[in-house]
Amino acid sequence: MIAKTREIYRDKRLTNSLPTVRFLDPEYVYLAVTNQRCATGELYVKPGDHVKMGQKIGLRHGPFFEQPIHATVSGEVVGTVKKFHRSGKLTEFVQIKNDKKEEWDEEYKPRTDEEIAKLTKEDFVEILKDKALVGLGGSSFPTYIKFQGNDPIETLAINAVECEPYLSADHRLILEFPDLLMQGCKYAMQALGAKRTVICIKKKYQDLYDTLTAELTRFPNLPIEVCRVGNYYPQGWEIEMIKTALGVKVPAGVLPAKLGIQVLNVSTTVGLYRAIKQNRPVVERNFTITGDGITTPTNFRVKVGTSLQEIITLAGGYNSDDNKVMILGGPMMGANLVRDDAVVTKTCTSCIIMNEKKYTEEPCVRCGSCVYSCPAGLQPVQIMQAVKNNDKDALKNKLNIKSCILCGMCSYTCTSKIHLTEYCRKGKKLAL
Ligand code: SF4
Ligand code: SF4
Repeated sequence: MIAKTREIYRDKRLTNSLPTVRFLDPEYVYLAVTNQRCATGELYVKPGDHVKMGQKIGLRHGPFFEQPIHATVSGEVVGTVKKFHRSGKLTEFVQIKNDKKEEWDEEYKPRTDEEIAKLTKEDFVEILKDKALVGLGGSSFPTYIKFQGNDPIETLAINAVECEPYLSADHRLILEFPDLLMQGCKYAMQALGAKRTVICIKKKYQDLYDTLTAELTRFPNLPIEVCRVGNYYPQGWEIEMIKTALGVKVPAGVLPAKLGIQVLNVSTTVGLYRAIKQNRPVVERNFTITGDGITTPTNFRVKVGTSLQEIITLAGGYNSDDNKVMILGGPMMGANLVRDDAVVTKTCTSCIIMNEKKYTEEPCVRCGSCVYSCPAGLQPVQIMQAVKNNDKDALKNKLNIKSCILCGMCSYTCTSKIHLTEYCRKGKKLAL
């Protein structure tokens, strides 16, 4: 599927200069009872119950942690339904009918600056855990875990690179809420004991540079700098970003925290601001809908749990009767959707909708492009062969499949249009 998208890798410009459209009153929201990191979940509510925004309506259970489920609108619980999750899997969701009163749970009182100044590292961890903040750039990694380690952190690196083609949700977030980003950096530095923050953006985005440097004049005492990194993919892979921005090479298998660096994505940093200052969980997010198959590519600000079909309608619907290729997430790392019956979860950045173009996979010509382009130094063509041979041992020990970041570069550069990333995905599962 990724190879099918190759002709149109250029168009962040479809959306990044357009203001974000607010759509915060859907008729219903759908909240996942489970996700990739938490295989089971329980609900505290039943059909007919009235809930308020931010109310804990359930709990997801994972092997290492639990995650509260927060209502993102006030209204009435309808029941549970099956819909597609951003992972591409059919998943159980709790459905809430929005009463459009935007009533917050009384528990959520903003903190004063004095209260925040007194928060300890342990307090930050508890708040982030309670608010279920996760990597909103798509990683879905629980943020509190990044704050509970004992490694001394010198530098907080903010990943504002958003390097996948087409996506501009973070781009608009920075342009429209630079103050929240700065405040989020300030709180994260306090929690980590970090001495400085480096916000990493792509070199070519002058608008981001101008906005951030202008905003920094309002925070003269904060040790925050803006660093312009490369325009290429996958510059947003944290290992690449750290190397370019800080000149530090993070060895394979080593966490940046071991080298005194902690990384947060832009949306996560703004989410952290809301958790600490407003004492609120993430109930809304920026979401890009774009591609040559949709009438009006747009960035929306939506409630977590909004149905994708509703957003497609708002964006003018499909622009033709052609078959569509749909990807939830970016074109390089996102998941293919077989139907548009999906939901915008907390970690859903975007949906790319394209008119399908026919590409035929051809036999490998041993050109080596996939090997040269792999940022992790792997051999995708050999990985494909090992998957075909069901050779788990080679995948694990010789081909180091666990270092694959599923970036999509091998598929993108393959001369024969082979979906190598799909083989990598399968190889990872085989080697478990
Ligand atoms: S998907 Fe994996 S194997 Fe392919 S280029 Fe990216 S890291 Fe390398
Ligand atoms: S890029 Fe494609 S054709 Fe070239 S070696 Fe890799 S798998 Fe074979």
